Amino acid sequence: MKDKRIEERIQHSLNAELSGLRTTSCQRDQFFENATGGYKVKKKISTVAILVAALMLFTVTALAVGFLSGWGHIEQAMDIAVEYDEYDEWSLDAKIRLITSMREDGIEISEDDWLALQGDTLTEQEKHSLANNILTSYYGDQEYIWFYTIATVDWGEPQTWSLEQRYWFFSTMREKGLYGDYSWIDLLPEKGDLTQAQAESIAKQAVAEAFELPEDEMVNLHGDVSFFITDEYEIPRWQICLYRDDNVWATEYTVLLTREGEVTEDPEGLGILTPAHERQRREEREESTENTQTVSEITAQARINANDPVYYNPSSGTYYHFLQDCPLVHSDYLPLTALDPDSEEFQRLTPCPACVQRNELWSMQDKIRYGIGDWMTPQPNWIGEEKALGIAHTTLNDRGIDVSGLYPVIYWSGIKDDSAVYYVSFVSVETDNLGYVRLNFRYTVEIEPVNGLIVSIGESDIRW
Ligand SMILES: [Zn+2]
Repeated sequence: MKDKRIEERIQHSLNAELSGLRTTSCQRDQFFENATGGYKVKKKISTVAILVAALMLFTVTALAVGFLSGWGHIEQAMDIAVEYDEYDEWSLDAKIRLITSMREDGIEISEDDWLALQGDTLTEQEKHSLANNILTSYYGDQEYIWFYTIATVDWGEPQTWSLEQRYWFFSTMREKGLYGDYSWIDLLPEKGDLTQAQAESIAKQAVAEAFELPEDEMVNLHGDVSFFITDEYEIPRWQICLYRDDNVWATEYTVLLTREGEVTEDPEGLGILTPAHERQRREEREESTENTQTVSEITAQARINANDPVYYNPSSGTYYHFLQDCPLVHSDYLPLTALDPDSEEFQRLTPCPACVQRNELWSMQDKIRYGIGDWMTPQPNWIGEEKALGIAHTTLNDRGIDVSGLYPVIYWSGIKDDSAVYYVSFVSVETDNLGYVRLNFRYTVEIEPVNGLIVSIGESDIRW
């Protein structure tokens, strides 16, 4: 089943990234921060919508070609994008053109399939479906096949692209009129300029000094390096976003360098950070995290005052919990034991940073009861929370996805009844080095709430 809204959202998020300068992790990070106000999630509906758009974007990258191929087929896919808006509209000729280019670029296409596409033994319909099979076997779900996803399958995520790949990709897009009016232009360094590796190394050194990071911390950071010019900048600059080994989508630090390699300010307001800016932003973020905790403590107090069940682990543990199956507690100690909030025992306990502080984990009922988020009222004809969770669980299990060890989080949204959706995400619960609990959204199933049909399934690695 095709869902226009999701497609529009993906398109929208891609456009936002492209217009928000370009597809780099830095801008993506910024994009998430802007959407959510950092950790302080103010408007849950838009947060979830954007999150889901991002989830869908990440599902297409599962297949890798496994060898270096030429770039002609990516250009061919751009030419097709000039002609057609979406894959559904592609003509058979367009599909065959792309497959031909893939073959010329050294991507292995079965000889039988290839001959069948050229010959006249198959009907037009059969050729379409054969071409679809070939393309989806390389590039994933046909709903998301376009030049951008083709490039990310062949080359990896944009953050890891070389300067040559960036330059070629975006200048080819521009030539074909696919780049919009965005003024960011990728350049290739010239003779006498820094190399990509040198720019990365200068940025890392600046960050290491500003944040007093030890050597072993630095080796896990990799640079998403751009050499660029925009309307606003008279001369080229370097931008280096540093991300960790395990999370290409989350920029840890951002550095702007002059052409000569001096750490510089961002007077043009492109949102690029020097280590000094970065440091200030982090301090502000820590403050806002403290505020968020105070806010959720007030909600938590309301919950205690209402005499809702509170739980604890009588054999050990210093927290009180709102969830009897709190994901932060080892399964050996589950289910937790109910506790009277008036008891002396309760007084010595502190709020669980997961199930008390992170009200995303709360049930639908509790989210409604305690006004968590700004939700539409669930309609009487909707399936209940338990059923929605069951459907999500079964759907993933049927696809061989093991969600044991992950905790289900439910949200819902919709402007009108007919556009309403449940979002059931399976998250892993992690504690960062500041003791703040992060929710890592691993899988999200989107369910139509009246008849329980699956709208989409997304996989991701987003920490919240
Ligand atoms: Zn807990």
